[in-house]
Amino acid sequence: MFPQRSPSPAAAVAGDDPRKGAVLRNVVCVQGRLELEGIPDRLVRVTPARLGTWSICPRRYRMTYLDRPAPSRGGAWAHSTLGAVVHNALRALFELPAHRRTPEQAALLLRQHWKSDGFAGAEQAAEYRRRAEGWLSDYVDRFGDSDTVVGVERRVSAATGTIIAEGRVDRIDQRAGELVVVDYKTGRHALSAEDARDSRALALYALAVRGMSHRTCRRVELHHLPTGRILAWEHTEESLARHRSRAEELAAELQAATDALHTGQNADTTFPPRTGRHCSSCDFRQHCPDGRRAAPDIAPWALLG
Ligand code: SF4
Repeated sequence: MFPQRSPSPAAAVAGDDPRKGAVLRNVVCVQGRLELEGIPDRLVRVTPARLGTWSICPRRYRMTYLDRPAPSRGGAWAHSTLGAVVHNALRALFELPAHRRTPEQAALLLRQHWKSDGFAGAEQAAEYRRRAEGWLSDYVDRFGDSDTVVGVERRVSAATGTIIAEGRVDRIDQRAGELVVVDYKTGRHALSAEDARDSRALALYALAVRGMSHRTCRRVELHHLPTGRILAWEHTEESLARHRSRAEELAAELQAATDALHTGQNADTTFPPRTGRHCSSCDFRQHCPDGRRAAPDIAPWALLG
């Protein structure tokens, strides 16, 4: 029996179809890698959270996503707990039919999902639970009967340019025949329409929603629960392309650093610390002398509004 010969890379891609062989003349092999003209040889999977962590601090990125076993993290943050509780309650609320989304139901769901991790004590936790019940009741009173919701906490993933943009969208609405990306916010800072415009997360979600649905998705919205304000932005092809281009640059940087680390280069050189005020709230500051020198410890409830 003759040993089977491995097909050439182009033939392997073309299979038995000679017409495909002609099409694949654009296939070239560079240093052992297949490249298709106009198609990147490797798509980098990214989430807005990954890109954001890389932008803030490469060392934090390494400890969050690459180091195994994963380094221990600091304790819970009250503002993160509050945000997670509100998101969970809103998810449960918008999974209900519109006629059941009442202010009373919103407050009930908030109480059912409540957690007190990171708060100073029972009194502070109770105060913020009351506040959050009020936020949700007011929000549902104004917007709860909307019948435009088509997706809640929906995972999205689509190739765009040299990246695969992924993540979980808080809500997807359908209005006037177009899809709209909705992101809930619970932070203490007032937001503006520019925040919606500049949000890389919202832009990447819009691109991913487009890629998956093949529908128009231009409008992105931040829904700020503490103030009840909705900050919206209508993206153009150009503004989405700018976000995508910046995301591609960041993805290429973090992938190059990851590859360098895997070939044995020094971790502190490939993923240097980037210190600043953000070090006070870094989950890994106990492992990072640079960060501890750069910014003081703060209480777990210090970033509540
Ligand atoms: S403490 Fe600061 S420098 Fe250290 S990993 Fe965290 S963010 Fe980076």
